[in-house]
Amino acid sequence: MYGVIGIPVTAMASAAQACGIRFISFRNEQAAGYAAAASGFLTGKPGVLLTVSGPGFVHALAALHHAQINCWPLVVMSGSSERNEVGQGAFQELDQVAAAQQYVVYSAQARCLDDVPRLLSEAFEATIGGRPGPAYIDLPSDILMATGDGGGSDTTSQEALLVDAIPARPPGPFKPPAADAEIAAACELLHHAQKPLVVIGKGAAFARSEEQLRHFIDRWQMPFIAMPMGRGVIPDDHALCTNAARSKALLEADVVLLFGARLNWQLHFGMPPKWSASVKFILIDVEPSARDASVAAQVLHGDAGTVALQLVEAMEPISMSSHWISDLQSKVGNAKEKLKARLSVEKYPLDYGTALKVIRDELNALEIAPIVCSEGANTMDQGRMLLEPVTAPRTRLDAGTAGTMGVGLGSAIAAAVTASAGQRVVALEGDSAFGFSGMEIETMCRYKLPITVIIFNNGGIYGGDRRDEELKALAVAGLKGIACENDPPPTAFVENSKYELLALAFGGRGVAVTSAGELRKELNEALRASIPTIINVQIDPLAGVESGNVHSFNAPKSSHA
Ligand code: ADP
Ligand code: MG
Repeated sequence: MYGVIGIPVTAMASAAQACGIRFISFRNEQAAGYAAAASGFLTGKPGVLLTVSGPGFVHALAALHHAQINCWPLVVMSGSSERNEVGQGAFQELDQVAAAQQYVVYSAQARCLDDVPRLLSEAFEATIGGRPGPAYIDLPSDILMATGDGGGSDTTSQEALLVDAIPARPPGPFKPPAADAEIAAACELLHHAQKPLVVIGKGAAFARSEEQLRHFIDRWQMPFIAMPMGRGVIPDDHALCTNAARSKALLEADVVLLFGARLNWQLHFGMPPKWSASVKFILIDVEPSARDASVAAQVLHGDAGTVALQLVEAMEPISMSSHWISDLQSKVGNAKEKLKARLSVEKYPLDYGTALKVIRDELNALEIAPIVCSEGANTMDQGRMLLEPVTAPRTRLDAGTAGTMGVGLGSAIAAAVTASAGQRVVALEGDSAFGFSGMEIETMCRYKLPITVIIFNNGGIYGGDRRDEELKALAVAGLKGIACENDPPPTAFVENSKYELLALAFGGRGVAVTSAGELRKELNEALRASIPTIINVQIDPLAGVESGNVHSFNAPKSSHA
């Protein structure tokens, strides 16, 4: 359970601890909610977020949205104002159930104490009983503050609540098979495929389908690409991994198996010009959206792993073009050579390539694959490309489907809390991304989570001022008119900020580096430390591009026709 306590849930966190539930107390509900959502992805079981009423609950909406859009299970429990004061300006009054509505698969308000165990069970089941998503349970303070048994005891019900409410049996895994007719139709499509491609999404990672998908790929020798958080389900260094030839694979594939990945913006909607106009999608999903189902040639309603094994059994040999794999492999080889050439020059001031190469080499030298959480624009995009190979499932978390900034420290805390013994956690943060939840450094220090936070500090959002002269002049003239001409550009932060001091403030380790050699030395030490470290890495403010890989989303469009 993650959260921030206060009125009316203060005793609830201690009650949770009394039940043997670990409670990680955050500084802001938003970051706590991101942690609980990430925990759902990492463990397959919903994480729980506990918040106070009103404003605390409003902060939780960010996490509800994040969990919903990434299809991750999450249960949010919030206190709310006294029901008999509603409508009169009660303390922190807000219709929280209504506010949660558009983000959740389930929501309910407890009407009495006895309601709560049932609501909790229903919420937990709902979060993983179909497409994973968030649920909300509203706990009015008159219920939480009622005394336990009416017999003069001063134990409030929130203390008694959790003991009664914990479901005796945690919800079981949801691993449904696809219907035989769906499997047969998919086999027919695959039988004629000349350039088949497998796409592994974070739904497949969530499904813990690594063994089954490996079996499928090895049996049918199909090339695959992995979505950012689907990386490692099959290791990047597998011979059929085609991530480095993504554009070619997308454009030329004729039959595509999507295991737990949606045809949203990240897959260019499944449309030309990125995909062939005649491509046939086979969608493997526990609960696809109506739109994705309408684009697909065939839907297999089921669990990624279960369906992979069904296909291994049912498929006949396919007539794959003899050049398909070798063409992709040569493209992958070329891309790797180009990258190697780029990384062979050590830059000072540091650019993304030089800094990430150092980080890659240090992480790859670890015995157990670390969990890397990353966010930012160029920091995240370049990190995805350069921090490879990803060799284990669920070891990459990033800003996700909505590009949510501020998730990194929460994700890293959840990763550290759920990591296997000896597994390290690294948060790779743009300086802007870090700022959204930076105070959670104190949370890391308080719980002694040995996370390494690497901040790529280029002094602002996207780094230096990249505005063209005309826009800059207009902005300065406008500011002059209101006597504020010395204001900094909207993208700029304080130059050379000493973020490392934040860790020192709370008893962690903090260092600043400007060169590859310093970074190597400090990272090496941080990865062996038993307390959190911030490494503040000075990056050339003009390295990278505005908005990173999605630069075009923020650029003028030639036509809206
Ligand atoms: P990515 O961003 O990696 O492409 P998405 O978040 O777009 O992944 O897609 C994840 C998909 O996985 C969702 O449509 C979700 O319904 C689906 N999913 C969740 N659990 C499973 C499962 N056990 N088996 C198959 N699909 C799943
Ligand atoms: Mg997707």
